[in-house]
Amino acid sequence: MSYNNHHKTFFPMAKSKHVLSLKLSITLLNLLIVAATAAVTNGLDTPSSKIWRPWPFKKLNKPVVLMISSDGFRFGYQFKTDTPNIHLLISEGTEAKLGLIPVFPTMTFPNHYSIATGLYPAYHGIIMNKFTDPITGETFNKGLDPKWWLGEPLWATATNQGRKALTYFWPGSEVPKGSWTCPKELCPHFNLSVPFEERVDTILNHFDLPEEDIPDLMMLYFNEPDGAGHNYGPDDPRVTQAVAKIDKMIGRIIQGLKKREIFDEVHVILLGDHGMVTNCDLKTIYIDDLADWVKIPADWIQAYSPVLAMNPNWGKDVKNPGEKNAELVAKMNEALTSGKVENGEFLQVYLKEKLPKRLHYSESSRIPPIIGMVGEGLIVRQNRTGVHECYGDHGYDNKYFSMRSIFMGHGPRFRKGKKVPSFENVQIYNVVAEILGLQPAPTNGSSLFTRNILLPFGETRDVE
Ligand SMILES: [Zn+2]
Repeated sequence: MSYNNHHKTFFPMAKSKHVLSLKLSITLLNLLIVAATAAVTNGLDTPSSKIWRPWPFKKLNKPVVLMISSDGFRFGYQFKTDTPNIHLLISEGTEAKLGLIPVFPTMTFPNHYSIATGLYPAYHGIIMNKFTDPITGETFNKGLDPKWWLGEPLWATATNQGRKALTYFWPGSEVPKGSWTCPKELCPHFNLSVPFEERVDTILNHFDLPEEDIPDLMMLYFNEPDGAGHNYGPDDPRVTQAVAKIDKMIGRIIQGLKKREIFDEVHVILLGDHGMVTNCDLKTIYIDDLADWVKIPADWIQAYSPVLAMNPNWGKDVKNPGEKNAELVAKMNEALTSGKVENGEFLQVYLKEKLPKRLHYSESSRIPPIIGMVGEGLIVRQNRTGVHECYGDHGYDNKYFSMRSIFMGHGPRFRKGKKVPSFENVQIYNVVAEILGLQPAPTNGSSLFTRNILLPFGETRDVE
């Protein structure tokens, strides 16, 4: 972006990152901002100013983002039943037309942290919900030790730059990071038994504070319909009930904001981390079925499905484990494509560095050396256990539509009734940073993406 665009920018921080990238001194920057601000202020008196309107609107004198995540809200769930509140956000806001694309693996912790940091899991470090570091042997299992959590999440970016953030159960938000200390009143300790209504009302109550105390960024997490989806599979009536419950909570938020006359001034983003697909034991691949080609001990396998994660222990005598790993992968794929392994065609095994580039899943020493891509809805087990059940799961390749979630944004910077093509959730960090006028940390998203989805600052969405 050239400096020429700045005369349309009233809120200085919003575009200052581009100026900063030119390494101008802060003093010079301030002079430019003063000049730009004056230009806009003068412009307001001219007839051509009708589409440029600075803050304040009516109540709030600053941009506020309320991001809501509904775990496991598969794209399409919004049509399972009447969801009038979700559809209000869609019809009066901007929607990813065919859903939000999760990062691989399509699991809760990697995805929530990708949304928060704009980084793929290989770069933010949370490569699965649970994993063992192949080098150190240490196990991560959703723990809060900061050493696991790389990158700069939005709540840290906000507080580092003097803004106020509030997180309500967002995965990773209890980890101290930069200026973010997870203060008790702005970062409640994860507790699934807190009713959704209480979570919503706590958020709403923050809008009653004096304006300077209203958090600029609020990130709220609901653990449904993921729970119902896992237990009963995505097509169960109890999932439909969970979707209706989420819609009711969105209605509670909308009503709460309307009551405070700020519904049109707060940026409400509703999204999910991933989708959900039915798993049944009839569609299982058994590792022991590969024994005629290669014997694989269970302790080489860190995770079976939806992602097969293997870290073979070749022992000290093996001089070149990389070579042995490549041989193992070749043998496994030979078995799986032989036509003699039940459901073998639905599993493909890779050295991690040979995984398709689009997955961005190799550049981390935490990712085990061998990864198996499991077909949509398939299960991998070591051997036949006699279990026969169906349930729901996610974690599969992010190319599957069943793994997609939703994205919609409502508020001053989101155009009314706009549909945008599906995009990956690593883009969202920059969108929020742009709305809040924050200098973004480096991400895997594109700084240009925000132009696809946001109105320029100061342009009101109702005046075309
Ligand atoms: Zn889940």
